[in-house]
Amino acid sequence: MDEHGPWIAHINHGRWVAECPRPRCGWAYLLKPDQGGQICQTEQGDGCRYAGTVRWPGDAAAISTELALRPVEADRNWAPAGHPQTFRSRTPDGRVVAEVFPRGETVADLRRENGTIEALPPEPTTRDETIERANAALADLGFVYDPAEPGHLRRL
Ligand SMILES: [Zn+2]
Repeated sequence: MDEHGPWIAHINHGRWVAECPRPRCGWAYLLKPDQGGQICQTEQGDGCRYAGTVRWPGDAAAISTELALRPVEADRNWAPAGHPQTFRSRTPDGRVVAEVFPRGETVADLRRENGTIEALPPEPTTRDETIERANAALADLGFVYDPAEPGHLRRL
């Protein structure tokens, strides 16, 4: 067991995952919280069959909680110091994680970053554009959406 080392639990786009530790294998798997071991075998029967323990950070739950506060899943990433993801992954303000946090990113670091994310102006979404079009159409008819009104419409 563990001849290629443990599976290293990390968060990618909000999901706990681990890549197979066997060199050149390349399969990655979703992990359940506190999962103790992993076998490299997909539901379709692919994979190298490597079995090993999963190495979790001691504060996995706190890391999940901090990242879940980020509205954009692409900003929900965490990996221990030295993990390949830290060299590809960027902080919300665009810096390479491994360069900013060479000894690893702590829960306090994630929380500090969360403060900067909330300061960023939100990108307009398709939903926002749909709401704007609906409000413009209502205004053309002489109404405005008002959640305080019965029926939620008020005459302009
Ligand atoms: Zn494998």
